[in-house]
Amino acid sequence: MVINIRQGTAEDGGFIIKDNIHITNRELETLALIGMGFSNGEAARKMGVSINTVRSHIWNLMKKIGATSRANAIVLAVQNGIIDIQHKRSLDTYVRGFDHYVLCIFCGKVSLDDDYKPATTEEVEINHIKYGMPVLPGCPTEGCRGNITETIDWDEVRKHHPEYPEVPKHGVVYDYDIKWFRGYPNE
Ligand SMILES: [Zn+2]
Repeated sequence: MVINIRQGTAEDGGFIIKDNIHITNRELETLALIGMGFSNGEAARKMGVSINTVRSHIWNLMKKIGATSRANAIVLAVQNGIIDIQHKRSLDTYVRGFDHYVLCIFCGKVSLDDDYKPATTEEVEINHIKYGMPVLPGCPTEGCRGNITETIDWDEVRKHHPEYPEVPKHGVVYDYDIKWFRGYPNE
């Protein structure tokens, strides 16, 4: 997987300008790392900055683009072409064992973690620096290429969808609206 961060030009001082919003390259790097599933602490180590700096980059970026959460910031950034995620992966290995339900932040569907497609380890390049990292399992929703997920409590899903079964079935993806999602486990 390669995440291409759109670089600003010399005229705009290296900033991304979109609808009069200026986003620094550091803010974008932070967003990309968080989007790949790194915690604030891990992103801080990779970027060589403090965890508070990471928090402030995320907070500033969220305010600038009007995001309501970190997950929402990633969705908005992808949708608006601020970050660009390309998948080039071979589906060889699979890491199982997480007994939980996940919300795909691309399509907004919830499914069992075990239903996710195989993941592998890949080299990721961010602003010409290469990182080795596990690629998250892919979303099982047909036609969705998302691989950024949030762990979600099934009871939380059922609050909005009481018609859903008490125990979700394997091989089924359930509709959910991401705006209802409030948690973020990587803090
Ligand atoms: Zn999806």
